[in-house]
Amino acid sequence: MSKQKERKLKRLKRQRIWPYVFGIVLVIVVFSLLLLLINGFLLVNLIYDKMQQGYENTKMVAKVMETDWQPEKEDSLQEICDILLKGMSGVENVCIADSNNEIVSQYGKEVPRLDYYIPVFSSSKAKYIPTKDDDDFFYLTQTGINFNLDNIDKNVIKEGGLTSENMWETEDVTTVSVWYQMPFSNEGYSVCVKSKLPIRGAEIFFLAIVLEVIIILAFVLIIYYLISIFSLVYERGKLAKILSTDVVTGGFNLQYFNKNGNRLLKKSWKNKYNYAVVTIQMDKYTNFCSCYGMREGEELLEGFVEVLQKNLSKKEILAHGEKAEFALLLTYKTEEELTNRLKDMISKMKTVKADQKKYFSIGICQALGAKNGIEAMYNCAVVARNKVTEASENPIVWFNDEMRKDQLWLHKVENDMEKALENKEFQVYLQPKYSTREEVLSGAEALVRWIHPKEGFVAPFRFIPIFESNGFVVQLDDYMLTEVARQQAQWIEEGRKIVPISVNVSRANFVREDLAEHICQIVDRFKVPHDVIELELTESAFFDDKEVLLNTIKKLKSYGFVISMDDFGAGYSSLNSLKELPLDVVKLDAGFFRDEDEDGRGKLIVEDTISLAKKLEMRIVAEGIETREQVDFLAHMNCDLIQGYYFAKPMPVAEFEKKAFG
Ligand code: C2E
Ligand code: MG
Ligand code: MG
Repeated sequence: MSKQKERKLKRLKRQRIWPYVFGIVLVIVVFSLLLLLINGFLLVNLIYDKMQQGYENTKMVAKVMETDWQPEKEDSLQEICDILLKGMSGVENVCIADSNNEIVSQYGKEVPRLDYYIPVFSSSKAKYIPTKDDDDFFYLTQTGINFNLDNIDKNVIKEGGLTSENMWETEDVTTVSVWYQMPFSNEGYSVCVKSKLPIRGAEIFFLAIVLEVIIILAFVLIIYYLISIFSLVYERGKLAKILSTDVVTGGFNLQYFNKNGNRLLKKSWKNKYNYAVVTIQMDKYTNFCSCYGMREGEELLEGFVEVLQKNLSKKEILAHGEKAEFALLLTYKTEEELTNRLKDMISKMKTVKADQKKYFSIGICQALGAKNGIEAMYNCAVVARNKVTEASENPIVWFNDEMRKDQLWLHKVENDMEKALENKEFQVYLQPKYSTREEVLSGAEALVRWIHPKEGFVAPFRFIPIFESNGFVVQLDDYMLTEVARQQAQWIEEGRKIVPISVNVSRANFVREDLAEHICQIVDRFKVPHDVIELELTESAFFDDKEVLLNTIKKLKSYGFVISMDDFGAGYSSLNSLKELPLDVVKLDAGFFRDEDEDGRGKLIVEDTISLAKKLEMRIVAEGIETREQVDFLAHMNCDLIQGYYFAKPMPVAEFEKKAFG
């Protein structure tokens, strides 16, 4: 999966769920507060109202007592109350207390606890005396208000308060008793009055409605958030499925393979079997598609997935990578068992569209836990798979220690290369070129050597291919050209009789359209005549963009540089390149002279190439010349220059100076 898609999925995962969860928490908090505030407010009002009524009753009784009550008359209170309470609703008990707060007279059975006041409700005129009746709706204690919700008559709420239209006149739902004590005489007498006050259906109804509205609103919002969370989780699951599905085969893709593979590997230490990361590739799949078409190619891949899937257990994974490449995480007990199993899989894969020939290459990397990550192991499997060549009899290769060493070396080189350039660890070696006839030193090739602080002397074949694949060779070539130009400038200044020195220009340089100007700039910094610098282009460069190549060569030539084609004949050099490109020099590859040439065919080719190049007015340099016979043969053929161990190996500049000018 691309990094972008991965980021999108991550964003989706992170961003969306939290607001909803937060929403739910917020709704619960806000609505709880609302509930507390509104219902609290309504309740306080209700309580205050009832207490006010109790207080008013007490005030009225106290007023009557002030004028009518006679302490010396035993049934004075009885007489007053018999008359007074007929006209007052809710007053049940009345007591008279003396200055010591002792009850001296009482009407009704109950007496208040006069030592139990709550100061909050006290006033200068009356004191509230908290008591508890079992059928009270609420009562006050020293610590707060207590409710007896069980005492609410639910039937009354249903039949009267909640359903009746004239709910304000419904029966009482419950009652609340309040005792007040109020002084009424100069002798310190006070009256205690208990009012039993009704709470109506409408009052409870109002509270219940507010409560219900708030709860319903909160409920709706919570449901909304929950639905959003569920749909999000579902969508995410769907998206994750889409993202892990391979569009070509309908199976899994590498993204899924990496994620789930690592999960399985983490658990693998518990199991008795081992895991191996395997890559199977159908070779020349592009050719297959060119012959039979893309659709046929895709059907083939679908068929492969079907076949492979049937051969997997639940603890194994299969995914499709690029083109006809498959990644597998397989369990195994022995290497032999897995190799045989894979051979069997290949033969089954060959039965898909059996009439068409198919070849496979397989790489295996033993999975040692999830420490390195399955991606790294898959890369190792690919490294092993790339070792399978057309000539290989066995298409199955296990990633081994040698390959691991190569990988480590690759990492080391890539880690160290930039620092090496900064620290001037790359050194210029010069290999002289000799004229064939006179056998005098007439030129040289600059060849790089890496003097690594830990590894010591490192030959180019160990790092140039790595630099070529990661592009660093471009910087190295610039460095070599700079050093050669600097050296030539120094020798010119010293009055030496210099010879042209060639530098290698790797094909990677040809991505720049201004390559010619760039080379010119480097050389011109040292004010060196251009014809003392020769540029060797490797044959592979001739397969890239012909137009850029031709333009660059033309420009370089016009600036006065000498251009040569390196390793001519080593690969697939086409004679066309000789025709199309205005080259100055052709360097015959060492391979022409290295192999045994019993029937003389190689000699014939060299002879003809030399005479062809001569006719095209090019000079010939023969590389890798190691024997006197080769020198004599080349002299006979009119070859211009010879570069090889016969005359000299590549050497440090100081040694070259002795040879050239000494
Ligand atoms: P090349 O440019 O074809 O260089 C010639 C190679 O042949 C050199 O190997 C040289 O040491 C070797 N050689 C010369 N005469 C003989 C001989 O008689 N016998 C044998 N066996 N070998 C001989 P070297 O220095 O190891 O370089 C290998 C390749 O690395 C070069 O092939 C070139 O392609 C690349 N290379 C070296 N230095 C540079 C550089 O600065 N830039 C780039 N881009 N490539 C470089
Ligand atoms: Mg060369
Ligand atoms: Mg060469």
